Amino acid sequence: MKFTVHVLADRCKECGICVSVCPKGVLSMSDNMNRYGYRYPIIVKPSECIGCKNCEYHCPDFAIFVQKVD
Ligand code: SF4
Ligand code: SF4
Repeated sequence: MKFTVHVLADRCKECGICVSVCPKGVLSMSDNMNRYGYRYPIIVKPSECIGCKNCEYHCPDFAIFVQKVD
């Protein structure tokens, strides 16, 4: 099973929670800024995602979600 992680950059507030709750190191904060001046995470190890949705469940701003792909 494969998963794709989507980051809605302009909703992100740079809290870093998603990065810290991911058990597989899939995410990392980037130096890219969204339109409000917050840095947002990027997916650095896409193939490692196990679809646990920890990132999605813990993001306070609904800025990240996980999709199962065939
Ligand atoms: S679904 Fe789980 S493994 Fe995948 S990026 Fe989110 S926290 Fe990490
Ligand atoms: S948990 Fe949400 S708001 Fe916080 S850094 Fe991750 S995507 Fe951004």
